[in-house]
This record gives sequence, C-alpha cells and structure tokens, in this order.
Amino acid sequence: MPLVSMRQLLDEAAKGGYGVGAFNVNNMEQIQAIMEAARETKSPAIVQASRGARSYSQDNFLYHLMLAAAELYPEIPLVLHLDHGNSVETCKSAIDLGFTSVMMDGSLNPDGKTPSTFEYNVEATRKVVEMAHAKGVTVEGEIGVLGGIEDGHGAGLSGLSHVTDPAQAEEFVKLTGVDALAIAIGTSHGAYKFAQKPTGETLKMGRLIEIHERLPHTHLVMHGSSSVPQDLQDIINKYGGKLRPTFGVPVEEIQLGIRNGVRKVNVDTDNRLAITGAIRKVFFETPEKFDPRDYLKPAREAMKKVVAQRMTQFGQAGHVGDYAQIPLAEMARRYAAA
Ligand SMILES: [Zn+2]
Repeated sequence: MPLVSMRQLLDEAAKGGYGVGAFNVNNMEQIQAIMEAARETKSPAIVQASRGARSYSQDNFLYHLMLAAAELYPEIPLVLHLDHGNSVETCKSAIDLGFTSVMMDGSLNPDGKTPSTFEYNVEATRKVVEMAHAKGVTVEGEIGVLGGIEDGHGAGLSGLSHVTDPAQAEEFVKLTGVDALAIAIGTSHGAYKFAQKPTGETLKMGRLIEIHERLPHTHLVMHGSSSVPQDLQDIINKYGGKLRPTFGVPVEEIQLGIRNGVRKVNVDTDNRLAITGAIRKVFFETPEKFDPRDYLKPAREAMKKVVAQRMTQFGQAGHVGDYAQIPLAEMARRYAAA
C-alpha cells in the first residue's frame, strides 16, 4: 500500500478521539520496530525523520526502507513525515523524495537555533503549504519555540522561554492554512526535560486547552513528549551508563492533551533509551559477543515494546482498519477545491 498523507490519519484520529505517536528513525531496525509494534497493536503509524536522520541514513536508503515497510505491512496506514524542516528548500527536497507530510518549523530561523519573527514564520510556512498541498502532502507548522536538543534543533533554548500565545496561534493558522500545529507548552527535546516530575501546571496544559478552543479544527502536535521512564534510565545506568536523574512528560498529561485536540505526539528519546539499554546489557553480560545481530535484535525488540505501549496509551491501537486510504492526488484535489 502506498504511503498516505498525515492529514488523513489525523482527521480519523480526531473523529475517533485518539492520538497518534510519531516516532523518529535513522535506520532499518527502528523502522522495523515501529512496523512490528503497529502490526501487534493494529495501529496506523507515523514514521518521522529529521534533517539529521536524512543525512545520517541518506535520503534514498531511508525512502526505500519506507517503501519496504509499506510493502511488508500493507494493512497499516503509513506516513513518512519530515520532522523540523528548517527551510522551504528542505521541505521541497522531502516532498520531491516522496515524504507524505512535512513540518516547516519557521519558529526558528533557518539556522535552527535563533527564534524568528512571526512574519518570517508565516511567510515560509505559507510557501510550504502552497507547494505541499498541490501534491496532497500534509504540513505541520510551529508557533512558539520548543527548548532542548533534537539533532541540535533549538539547542540551548529553555522549554518555558517561548510558550505559545493562543491568539497568535489562531492568526498563524488563518494566515498559513497548516493542517497541524506544533505548540510550545513547556516541553523540550532530549532526555533532560524536568528536574522533578512535572504537573499540568508546569506543562501549561491550560494554554493547550485554550488553543484548542480557539482552533477546534486544527490538529495539535506535542513535541518533546517522551516520558523518560525510570526503568529505562535504570537499565542504562545498571550496565555502565551515566544518565543524570531526569523526568519526562507523564503519559497522563499527554492523554489529557489528547482529550483536548492533540492528535500527534512526538516520541524519540524513550526509544533511544530503550535501544541503548538493551545494547549495554548485552555488552555487559556477554562481552565475548561480537555479532551485531546479538545486540541489534534485543535493541529492536526493546524499542518495539516502548512503541507498542505508547500506541496503546495514545489510543491509536485497534484503529488500523477503520478507513480506506485516500491517495495523495485525491488529497490535492480536495485542497484545491477548499
Ligand atoms: Zn520536535
């Protein structure tokens, strides 16, 4: 089955009142982990790649792995999404390659580090929407600025420095026509999000609810939404790792978000932790082993477990066969008619 637009997956999620996890990949094992988790839980799937991932794996390897995934798991509605596109050109290259959804993150300048102006963000995002919708491809924008590191993206900014302003979010959507909107509500990228367990107050959930009230038809996106579970940290540290104590976004806060318009939930760190813990364990317990399969297989299995758990917690499990997939050409026709 061909890759499908993210817009359709999120529209269906809105109808069903559930969220869809978007999981980052760099290699074959991570794609396989997501597909196996989707099959096991009967979930639609969003696979996303950052600019760093595209350069690490090289575009063509990544794209053809995704085509293999679509071939081998024909029952799963599958989206290939660009995470944090930093410019119109980056988004264009992803669309040309075959991504079915792109994020234009105009909240930062093309350097991916310094906060941009509202005008720049609107202008760049609107250009991407025009180009993407002509091909039926979905666009996610961002308003407000997330903190932390994601392949260096937004590095050094604190999670609370640029929380999204609801009135500005409303104007942004009106001016750009984005399908989905990433908002900043105090989360940040990477493992070190919070020094203690955050509450709904720390996370500005009230802000999220207000944005959803103003934009009931826009799919909201939570970035930096790994939960950084203690047990995954413990495995790494038990087998020679050195993680400092840290807290992520509690799953119950994400579920509150999902009840209030969040349709896409980005998770990367939890999978990184699961993979690293599994590999460390093999190295520590059986240092005589040297076949990469001996540690990549448990690593893949550990990531699959985390992804399957999130798919269940976000509510997407069981929704794999709910709808017939709409081809991109038909999505393009609908955008043109709207
Ligand atoms: Zn992000």
